[in-house]
Amino acid sequence: MIPFDFIYCRPDSLTEALDTYRQLEAEGKSPVYYSGGSEIITLCRAGGIRPGAVVDIKRIPDCLCLFPDDQGLNLGSACTLNQIKESKHFPLLGTVCGRIADHTNQCRITLGGNLCGSIIYRETSLPLLLSDAKMTVFGADGLRTIAFKDAFPGRMHLRPGELIVQIHVPSRALRAPSSHVKRTQNEKIDYPLVGVAAIWQDNVLKIAFSGVCAHPFRSPRMEAVLNDHGPSCAARADKAVSLLPKPAYSDVRGSAEYRVFVLRNTLEALLEDWENGQI
Ligand SMILES: Cc1cc2nc3c(=O)[nH]c(=O)nc-3n(C[C@H](O)[C@H](O)[C@H](O)COP(=O)(O)OP(=O)(O)OC[C@H]3O[C@@H](n4cnc5c(N)ncnc54)[C@H](O)[C@@H]3O)c2cc1C
Repeated sequence: MIPFDFIYCRPDSLTEALDTYRQLEAEGKSPVYYSGGSEIITLCRAGGIRPGAVVDIKRIPDCLCLFPDDQGLNLGSACTLNQIKESKHFPLLGTVCGRIADHTNQCRITLGGNLCGSIIYRETSLPLLLSDAKMTVFGADGLRTIAFKDAFPGRMHLRPGELIVQIHVPSRALRAPSSHVKRTQNEKIDYPLVGVAAIWQDNVLKIAFSGVCAHPFRSPRMEAVLNDHGPSCAARADKAVSLLPKPAYSDVRGSAEYRVFVLRNTLEALLEDWENGQI
């Protein structure tokens, strides 16, 4: 049960959503955009947040699209993980979506919610960091399209009142050879101790991580080491984990040392598969 009342609004357009949000904000209601609602409701129940109003974006057509065109794939921010997985348009992103939570929650959790939520893993960001994705957002300045990597240095940076409308993935990335590894503590469905997403373009490895540090990331320095075919796979994996951009994450699921150990072994296995032509 949510132990307080709040206003629920369900606009039909981006303009109506923004106007509603700003009106509620002016009235001191501390509104939040509401997509799948899984995190908002959990936090409201636990007392973590207390919004006076939610603005549900799931009836806005621009946020619900899911179609390829000659440029690539257009993904509405309110698409669920299951819709993305089932569409099969971007196999790497579909695989990542299919390994977040269980099927019931995948039918509810949305792309925008995963990217903007407070849970640190934000695993759907990994394929987007690797694919030169762009993001269209809507706010006081109207629609603007920005490089995903610039708006997402580990967590989403939006201007006050802005919402994500769509993500655009260039065609080239959609069918690139790819791999996703998610190592968890015990269960198949759990937060990642180590999540690794990789794509190969022109035989160059691009790789991004979740669970290793306190935010998802892609590291040019680590990629340079992993793409240097001179040293052995083991030596490259050792060197790469010494270059983490931030200290390794530590919590009840796994210590920092254990996460680095798991990452190192995951990288070595990935490199061996690549060298052996299995990717
Ligand atoms: C059982 C379970 C297991 C999970 N396991 C994992 C996991 O292994 N890995 C992982 O990465 N995540 C995991 N999650 C987290 C999950 O993927 C989502 O991050 C989260 O539940 C929020 O998604 P939602 O669509 O319900 O967002 P909501 O609860 O609707 O919103 C979350 C936040 O995002 C904001 N927001 C939503 N959409 C937009 C938008 N379009 N523009 C701007 N702001 C927006 C909201 O205002 C709010 O602040 C798990 C969640 C559950 C319930």
